[in-house]
Amino acid sequence: MLNQLTISELAAKLASREVSARAATQSCLDQIARVDGKIHAFISHDAADALAQADAADKEISSGVKKPLLGIPIAVKDVLAVKNQQLNCGSKILGKFISPYDATAIEKLKAAGAIVFGRLNMDEFAMGSSTENSAFGVTRNPWDTSRIPGGSSGGSAAAVAADECIASLGTDTGGSIRQPAALCGCVGLKPTYGRISRYGLVAFASSLDQIGPFTKDVRDSATLLGVLSGVDPRDSTSVPQPVPDYAAALDGNIKGLKLGLPKEYMIGGLDPEVKAAVDAAVKQYEKLGAEIVEISLPHTDYAVATYYIIATAEASANLARFDGIRYGLRVDASDPTELYSQTRGAGFGAEVKRRIILGTYVLSSGYHDAYYLRAQKVRTLIRNDFLKAFEKVDAIVTPTTPTAAFKIGEKSDDPLQMYLSDIFTISCNLAGICGVSIPCGFTNSPKLPIGLQLLGKPFGEETLLKIAHAYEQNASWHKEKPSLA
Ligand code: GLN
Repeated sequence: MLNQLTISELAAKLASREVSARAATQSCLDQIARVDGKIHAFISHDAADALAQADAADKEISSGVKKPLLGIPIAVKDVLAVKNQQLNCGSKILGKFISPYDATAIEKLKAAGAIVFGRLNMDEFAMGSSTENSAFGVTRNPWDTSRIPGGSSGGSAAAVAADECIASLGTDTGGSIRQPAALCGCVGLKPTYGRISRYGLVAFASSLDQIGPFTKDVRDSATLLGVLSGVDPRDSTSVPQPVPDYAAALDGNIKGLKLGLPKEYMIGGLDPEVKAAVDAAVKQYEKLGAEIVEISLPHTDYAVATYYIIATAEASANLARFDGIRYGLRVDASDPTELYSQTRGAGFGAEVKRRIILGTYVLSSGYHDAYYLRAQKVRTLIRNDFLKAFEKVDAIVTPTTPTAAFKIGEKSDDPLQMYLSDIFTISCNLAGICGVSIPCGFTNSPKLPIGLQLLGKPFGEETLLKIAHAYEQNASWHKEKPSLA
């Protein structure tokens, strides 16, 4: 079925005119009709608009136009602005807000010929690890619908895993691409901070947020990264680094490359099946000629605490703009202060309120130095740990998550347990480096995907993806499909 293809497979069939973009798009829409009632990856999608884009792509293909994503259906997390589409960030507070412009990442997808369709479900304002914190309902894991797909980009991961689209975009502030990719069995890449413009991405924690792709294999991740990357005058934190041909770097040869195993990551809560799958992947890397080196990231213990100070501080500032005056929901009241508080009280969900309160507290006078300033200093120590490790190794290997997908409701009453499930992914954002999660096995019963995380140097995506791809070439986990019975 066309909806099951990767970008590179579908692109080849489109180029040879074996299939049309309309047929490929229809096949994704049919799959949505078939399975999304169970999965709920999409908040909404406009089938007529997707097919109109497909027809336009077919016209271009028949007149010989060549673009890297021409005719490829790609769905988008509900936190990215797509012109003339409703933008909700999984929240009630934006009401019926319609984006007046395209995010740079969306502009780039469109310029590359992609069919950009659908709004994918997410934890409200990307705060969460399970996609249970959405005003639009829970998304379910395609491998076991009684379980969470991960979060906050749960819709993006589930849609790719359930073949409802060919690839998708998500965002990662503390693991929101890599963690759901691991739990749903797809490839999720968090690029280096500054690699992809954040213009048109609704900010959660501006110094941590990055956009990235969810794909069915590593090659597609490289293709999308190439399209999305580059400096943007509209985002002063985007970096003017050249954009290499990422796909060209996937030559399968990793002989002599050094992979670091952080000793601090073998924590007590690590599930034995996850540990066994990661150990087996490390053995596989040795067989492929990589050298395994034990490394130390001594400040790992402080990462979760540091993250939850910095991320909430930034969130409390960023979310101040949702005041009921400028856009979205408004609960009318007699005076402005009352209007703000009524609107924010009604519009934000419990987790978002918790973060705003925490963030306001750590920034408040008297506590700022004790919490926020201190966390910034620890952040530097965490980054230095990585930079030091990268003097010795080309990439770092860890589990992506301590366990496979947990049950819906299992952690929703215990925010701290939920926060701790991000233990392996958070440091990467604090350090501003790049990371990818690739499938590396399954648990036995129930059968649930397990992810391997590879972390790379700042702007080292070429080597990172090459290492990920070399493993994938010798594995078949990524080809397995959920039964969706
Ligand atoms: N789970 C983390 C949080 O709740 C990370 C979220 C993200 O990366 N957007 O903040």
